[in-house]
Amino acid sequence: MTELRLCREDIYQGSLILINKEFDYKNTEKNISLVPADTDYPEILLECKASSVLARLMKDTGCEKEIVPISGYRSLQDQTDIYRSSMTEYGAEFTTKYVALPNHSEHQSGLAIDLAKRQPEIDFIRPYLPYEGRYGDFRRKAPDYGFIERYQSGKEKITGIAHEPWHFRYIGWPHSKIMAEQGLSLEEYIILIREYPYKRRHLVQRKGRQNVEIFFLPMGEDTEIDLPEHALIQQSGNNVDGVIITMWRKDHD
Ligand SMILES: [Zn+2]
Repeated sequence: MTELRLCREDIYQGSLILINKEFDYKNTEKNISLVPADTDYPEILLECKASSVLARLMKDTGCEKEIVPISGYRSLQDQTDIYRSSMTEYGAEFTTKYVALPNHSEHQSGLAIDLAKRQPEIDFIRPYLPYEGRYGDFRRKAPDYGFIERYQSGKEKITGIAHEPWHFRYIGWPHSKIMAEQGLSLEEYIILIREYPYKRRHLVQRKGRQNVEIFFLPMGEDTEIDLPEHALIQQSGNNVDGVIITMWRKDHD
């Protein structure tokens, strides 16, 4: 057995953190490593794992020259400026639909990216990214790589944001795949995972000869848990009330 120690700060970091109108971005430690989302656009940054996975997804779907990044990581100041200028230019109704309040934007985590079809004129607030052709392939394959289309049509009441076909969020595999298969928003997925606590039945996803087990640890205070020695462990806070553990195990373990 190996011991995993978790503290309350762990709630607020990792690829599964929920950032929306209700839950603000709290990881102000600046401990995320940011790299360019695309070498042709060095000013657009993304968390490093998200960036490398996005590059592979683009390459594997033949979209490298067809899809361009529009907006990645934003500082608090960037988000404040975007919010203010949208209010001035487009008014309150439009802004509350499409632009998150400062500290309530996923872009501040470095895990979100807005993407557009490459064309001469691009709308930077609502970029155009089609659903057909290779763009459709990109969308269908995104959950296999850990990305989700975050603000889907029909989920507006849950996410609090209008349908945004251009906004993608890295949350990591297999979470992205489960969400896509079950048609869940991140808000709904966070609720689902609470049904699989540490000491009870885990949510299981197969990958080849590996079992991927997912379970939830509510975090009232600092916690220690025992986990199998040979398992590969990933952890992420949900930014609400606990930590989600993803445990990779070979069959014979
Ligand atoms: Zn966005």
